Amino acid sequence: FAALESVDPEIAGVVTGELERLRGGLQLIASENLTSPAVLAALGSTLTNKYAEGYPGRRYYGGCAQVDRAEELGVERAKDLFGAEHANLQPHSGASANLAAYAALVQPGDTVLAMELPHGGHLTHGSKVNFSGKWFHTVGYTVRSDTECIDYDEVRDLALAHRPKMIICGATAYPRLIDFARFREIADEAGAYLMVDAAHFIGLVAGRAIPSPVPHADVVCATTHKVLRGPRGGMILCREELAQRIDKAVFPFTQGGPLMHAVAAKAVALREAALPEFHTYAVQVVRNAQALASALAAEGMRPVSGGTDTHLALLDLREAGVTGLAAELRCDAARITLNKNAIPYDPERPATASGVRVGTPCVTTQGMREAEMRQIAGLIATAVRNDPATTAGAARLRDVADEVSALVGKFPAYPEPR
Ligand code: PLP
Repeated sequence: FAALESVDPEIAGVVTGELERLRGGLQLIASENLTSPAVLAALGSTLTNKYAEGYPGRRYYGGCAQVDRAEELGVERAKDLFGAEHANLQPHSGASANLAAYAALVQPGDTVLAMELPHGGHLTHGSKVNFSGKWFHTVGYTVRSDTECIDYDEVRDLALAHRPKMIICGATAYPRLIDFARFREIADEAGAYLMVDAAHFIGLVAGRAIPSPVPHADVVCATTHKVLRGPRGGMILCREELAQRIDKAVFPFTQGGPLMHAVAAKAVALREAALPEFHTYAVQVVRNAQALASALAAEGMRPVSGGTDTHLALLDLREAGVTGLAAELRCDAARITLNKNAIPYDPERPATASGVRVGTPCVTTQGMREAEMRQIAGLIATAVRNDPATTAGAARLRDVADEVSALVGKFPAYPEPR
């Protein structure tokens, strides 16, 4: 860091400022986490210099012995951890992993069945502004309006009516477990591939806190930076018979040289995720999300679907009389970072939204437990109900910010070594 400070004080200031932001507030974005110092060390290493197009032992560049070792270790760790026949750690991101899965399994113009974006799906699941919606004929399934859970009968009906080549399950804002066995049955009946987009919850699978999609899916795509707590990036797991198609779809079809510093950092995260402490962490992430959701429900913020089985909760704020956008801004003023989110059948536009999404990976990594979740629920409830445009509201938000500082001071992000 001394080198960065002397060469580029402006960027050094950004890095320190971000560390202060992390230390000074509550991070409740469901897709974020605090990677370990070991992961950061691999990310900031000289491996960033190396070109390594291809795969271990089959590269288009010389000098790859060291990075080959990193990738082999990472791939073996991923296969062991998830019980997968094949793993590819090269996707630059979750969206890149999904692009490669499409490239491996379907052709432009084919039909793909996936969850609607406003019901919790991701942009890569068929949005018209994304490659998936532009190049493929996508059909969307929704959640039921009464239970706010996936309607498996609707999924089956749509699959049999449209005969998609690929069905996708896995979401960005769906708090419940997904019945992968049921999706497998539907895919088999319709003659479709099953792609599970486990971007959000692969870390819970790694920590054995929720069931694994690996035995049911043809291909599992994931990110490595969410609950899994690795570097920002993607990963694909699949059966051996699809291995070559997946590898070729990542390189050379959708990507060039892999980011070998990130691949090595993924290997580090996968090693950490195999430790017993990671199981304890993953189970606590879910317990914390459940404690947070029920305490928020008691404060008049209704968890969509009635609660959560995972690391996140989606809250309907209509009864509290605030939009998702206003809630996000008010919480931000109180040093609570979360995001506005559409709820199923949302009457508001996506940019305003009627809900917020909260997640517990960061606060769990910091060591917080159920008691802190109840305290955080109270802080969110106060923040959401106070308008910073009024003098009294602004003062109340400052009080909440002070309480947030006191709380996070007891559970510091990246504590200084003593
Ligand atoms: N798939 C799902 C379900 C996601 O939630 C996300 C990101 O939030 C992605 C894919 C894309 O990941 P990335 O942002 O790394 O491209």
